[in-house]
Amino acid sequence: MFIGVSVCVCVCIGVGIWILNSLHLGESRSMRAEAVTPVAAIMTATTVEANPSTPVKKSFDDLLRQYGPVPLADAHNHDASGSRYTGMHNMWKRDAMDRVILFGDVSESSAIQTDANAWNAYIERPDFFVPYFSGFDLHDPSSLEVVRSNLEQGYFGLGEVAAASYYSPVVSKVEWKAKDPMDGFLPQIYELCAEYQAPILLHIDPPNGFVIDKLEEALAAHPKTTFIFGHANAYNSPENIKGLLERHDNIYMDFFAGFTVLNPESTNRIEDFLPVMKQFPDKFMLSTDSGYGLPTEDAAIEAMYRVMDAIGDRALIKKVAYDNLDAIIRNEPATKTQKEAIQKKDAAHDVAKLTKLEAGKLLWGK
Ligand SMILES: [Zn+2]
Repeated sequence: MFIGVSVCVCVCIGVGIWILNSLHLGESRSMRAEAVTPVAAIMTATTVEANPSTPVKKSFDDLLRQYGPVPLADAHNHDASGSRYTGMHNMWKRDAMDRVILFGDVSESSAIQTDANAWNAYIERPDFFVPYFSGFDLHDPSSLEVVRSNLEQGYFGLGEVAAASYYSPVVSKVEWKAKDPMDGFLPQIYELCAEYQAPILLHIDPPNGFVIDKLEEALAAHPKTTFIFGHANAYNSPENIKGLLERHDNIYMDFFAGFTVLNPESTNRIEDFLPVMKQFPDKFMLSTDSGYGLPTEDAAIEAMYRVMDAIGDRALIKKVAYDNLDAIIRNEPATKTQKEAIQKKDAAHDVAKLTKLEAGKLLWGK
């Protein structure tokens, strides 16, 4: 019985996506009501399919041909876990991925190793990987030393950090999770992030209630810190996202495309988020979350392309797909440690205005 219902929901969503992509945006809203009734949706789909003048659903190959040349970054990727990134090269190449924010486990001791994996990936390909880390116990003062030392070394950001988790079957169980986004040494960690101009990617569930009140407290108390709300669209409404963006300048939204496009538990569709994306064109970035809860990571990447297609506007696509995140990464200055290492190789090198991105390429580029 349960399986029957699930299949029904999946088919319904599948047909819904088909309809969404088969129609112009102006028409899609009127189709939504029908898409919630499987029979009506299937009948509509059949009718639409029978009309040869109606555009058919774009294949992933069609989308790659259309949007492949647009730079694309994955803002949230766990493939440093088990060094899975080593087997991803072909998929990323085929799917025209240009940059991956790489980390592994979330706020637990095993993350110390996966942080090291992310670093190893980065020094192999500093033009492609951007390493983040989360292997620190945010209830212990030693976390401040880890954060400073990793940012000094050249990591670009912190993440995925469990700033609150009460429902996620995975993150709610991690040993170093915070009770809320102001718990433990997080306030001091936010200040270190500001000092290094490094972003912090937070996991917060549920995306409402007192944990979001605490997030807003953090945003107000640390105005120079760049916060990224991890998979902000998961189990969350466009209205909540809009409210946060209206009230705070220092928060960005990581949009887990696969959740909205493919997960039957998403109560919102892509077009529900388009008005807030258009209102805040500089605040969104796309991610795969390594395909969490989806059949494959490839499906999560395809979903990013479906979001680009739904956005429609070329300038906004470029921002959401790459430029918004790139602006944050590009803004990070080279550290003292990096400058010293560069001058050791070449004493004459002018390091005064060097960025962290440039420093990494000078130190590790092939
Ligand atoms: Zn994640």
